[in-house]
Amino acid sequence: MVRMEKLNKHFGPLHVLKDVDLAVIPGEVVVIIGASGSGKSTLIRCINGLEEFQQGYLDVDGKVLKPHGKASQALQEIRTEVGMVFQQFNLFPHLSVLENVTLAPRKVRQASREEAMNTAHRLLERVGIADQASKYPAQLSGGQQQRVALARALAMEPRLMLFDEPTSALDPEMIGEVLDAMRELARDGMTMVIVTHEMNFAREVADRVIYIHQGEIIEQGTPDEVFDNPQNERTQSFLSRVL
Ligand code: ADP
Ligand code: MG
Repeated sequence: MVRMEKLNKHFGPLHVLKDVDLAVIPGEVVVIIGASGSGKSTLIRCINGLEEFQQGYLDVDGKVLKPHGKASQALQEIRTEVGMVFQQFNLFPHLSVLENVTLAPRKVRQASREEAMNTAHRLLERVGIADQASKYPAQLSGGQQQRVALARALAMEPRLMLFDEPTSALDPEMIGEVLDAMRELARDGMTMVIVTHEMNFAREVADRVIYIHQGEIIEQGTPDEVFDNPQNERTQSFLSRVL
């Protein structure tokens, strides 16, 4: 689903991603961990073309994103196929929950109103907020808003879902409901790349955990390997701080 080879990304003088290799197979759940500023967000933003990169190879579901590639056909296709959920929910404040979820399918996929509505109701049901469909984002809790964001991404029938710290902006009591929805998605076989600090969740859902340090993948393996028996000293030190 994703093949990234020797990807390098700079922000001006800052070398943010250094020869990153990452392959994700269909149905795989990959969790990326690492300290703040290590390049986790930049890495997943490259996967859906939100950030361009300077060197390397990147193929997402058969579409090749080129270095310095802006406004390519591949980029357009990737954006419609890859769903993303951010730390900030980024819902449209002036649209109802239902409108938030039906907008992209109608505009981008040219779905009929009825078809988009049916899908939206089904997805809102799936994330446990069917009863909130006519409310506006400001009338919902953070956990509910994030579940709307998830339903909105799923409405485009993505082949791959990216998550960038989806629970970091939530009050503690709301984290569980968002993780539950993600857990269910993983169980249903969705291919997912998740940046999170929720280590228990990572241990439970990840097929593979990747530790990134200063823009380099320095360790990866199964959750048991990385969490219980980290090989790299920096991984050990990071985990001793967060676990
Ligand atoms: P993480 O998500 O792991 O906290 P980021 O990918 O957000 O890390 O950032 C990696 C590095 O790139 C940091 O040093 C950050 O300051 C820098 N950075 C991120 N976005 C930009 C940007 N738009 N312009 C310049 N520097 C940036
Ligand atoms: Mg980040």
